[in-house]
Amino acid sequence: MLNDNLPTDAQILPFYLANGSDDVALIRGRIASVGGPASTILERHNYPSLVANLQAEALALTACLTSTLKFDGVFTLQAKGDGLVRTLFADITEAGHLRGYCAMEDNPSGLQGATLAHDPSGAVRLGPLLGGGYIAFTVDEGSTNGRYQGIVELDERYLSDAAMRWYENSEQLDTVVICAAGQGRNGWQAVALMLQRIAAEGGSDAGRVLPKSGADARAASDDTWHTAKTLLGSITRDELLDPALTPENIIFRLFNSMAPHSAPARPVVDHCRCNVDKVEAMLAQLEPDQIDDLADDNGNLTVTCEFCKTDRVYHRDAILQP
Ligand SMILES: [Zn+2]
Repeated sequence: MLNDNLPTDAQILPFYLANGSDDVALIRGRIASVGGPASTILERHNYPSLVANLQAEALALTACLTSTLKFDGVFTLQAKGDGLVRTLFADITEAGHLRGYCAMEDNPSGLQGATLAHDPSGAVRLGPLLGGGYIAFTVDEGSTNGRYQGIVELDERYLSDAAMRWYENSEQLDTVVICAAGQGRNGWQAVALMLQRIAAEGGSDAGRVLPKSGADARAASDDTWHTAKTLLGSITRDELLDPALTPENIIFRLFNSMAPHSAPARPVVDHCRCNVDKVEAMLAQLEPDQIDDLADDNGNLTVTCEFCKTDRVYHRDAILQP
């Protein structure tokens, strides 16, 4: 098969669905399965399990939502709340370099209650962890097309709801997103799946024929969209997180009546973009008294990357007299 060369828990698989009677793609979809990179990312942090679960969902969702990034693009999901979790962050580059981190309140006393209230058969509810605030979805096309951002209030129940709201506001295309994460015996599984109705205006998309406009075509498209959403609703969380089911298995089992076609899968890897040059440029901006405040008794200053937890140690003298 086309996608056998990539690990099944570290890929984004784009696909198309038709109405079965012809080969016209009416729906585009993507399934991101990122349990592999999520496991190594989460291993480096010591999050309480509910927070780790939310982070894993954010990683899967971020990988799933990235769509048409240019060669140096970055897609970012960043939630800012006033609850136990102050920041929830995940980003991915066009090359599939995924990273993320959470920042928590210093003494998250409500965590036990939130954990007890969590239903392990469902997604993590945003309210008990993040409180009030917002989620920003940012597409940064790097040097080519600039940057655009959509903001969604933190009043949605789940991360996937917030993503759907973002699509509703920004693209006005019918979109449905589901997302699940869980820790198994062999690490994390984290999967997100999205379906989006292709605008009925003719033309072509990734080499596939698109629907013509017209009342009949619209009715057929409505039907197909309804069927696809119903089929998507039939998958259980356990199936979505079953390590024995590859992303391709899931799509072909779920949508076998809708002529599923997959495109080549794209890899997702645990890879941080921090580097020595960026750290040293940041240190060069500090005033001498700030450096002294940050240095330990031996004059050493440790800079820890909040994403990948890499420590870089500098002596104050080396920073002050480079
Ligand atoms: Zn890093």
